[in-house]
Amino acid sequence: MTIQCPAVKLYKSKVNRMKHFIDVLSARYPEPKCALVHDNPYELIVATILSAQCTDKQVNKVTPALFKKYPTPNKLAKATLADVEVLIHSTGFFKHKAKNLIGMAQAVVNIYNGEIPQNMDELTSLPGVGRKTANVVRANAFNIPSMVVDTHVIRISNKLGFVATEEPEIIEHLLEKLVPRERWRDYSHQVIMLGRELCTAKKTLCDECPVNS
Ligand code: SF4
Repeated sequence: MTIQCPAVKLYKSKVNRMKHFIDVLSARYPEPKCALVHDNPYELIVATILSAQCTDKQVNKVTPALFKKYPTPNKLAKATLADVEVLIHSTGFFKHKAKNLIGMAQAVVNIYNGEIPQNMDELTSLPGVGRKTANVVRANAFNIPSMVVDTHVIRISNKLGFVATEEPEIIEHLLEKLVPRERWRDYSHQVIMLGRELCTAKKTLCDECPVNS
């Protein structure tokens, strides 16, 4: 059962609670940004695919060598599974990820002329790319307002009573109604930062948390 955040009692209305939450997040995390190191949309989509069931820190250790060997979708599209598996082994589920990375690169080369698409339907047609990955890429590589819903966002959105579901796409659309469009990207980053620092899956440090004020 989800343990409710004390802020639910402080602010009965979801709109007021969200205003308070956004103010607190902005004060605590004034410079939210994507933790995956990347220089272009191709690098970000690769890093995000690798980040499934893996920490961003570990992904950032692996990607420099991967991007050096395969600097473009064209190069990655021609890679062998075995070569990619060796490079990404430490990120876990490496066989599945290697297959998706090469498949994604081949689709980008064959269908999109080597350019990572920006459209949601086109992005999610690529192997290994779901809505979360697509939204990470749209928000951070293309600056398109997008709400990223990961495990932290799901957990904290439920704790704060903004949603009562674990379904990511429903949460994405509900949050989009509560959060101003121009803040969607920063909001996701800030909630993820809170989920790593104070409101983790294992424990909630409510006494230290500025949301509880
Ligand atoms: S840690 Fe903060 S956000 Fe999480 S339940 Fe406690 S007060 Fe709420």
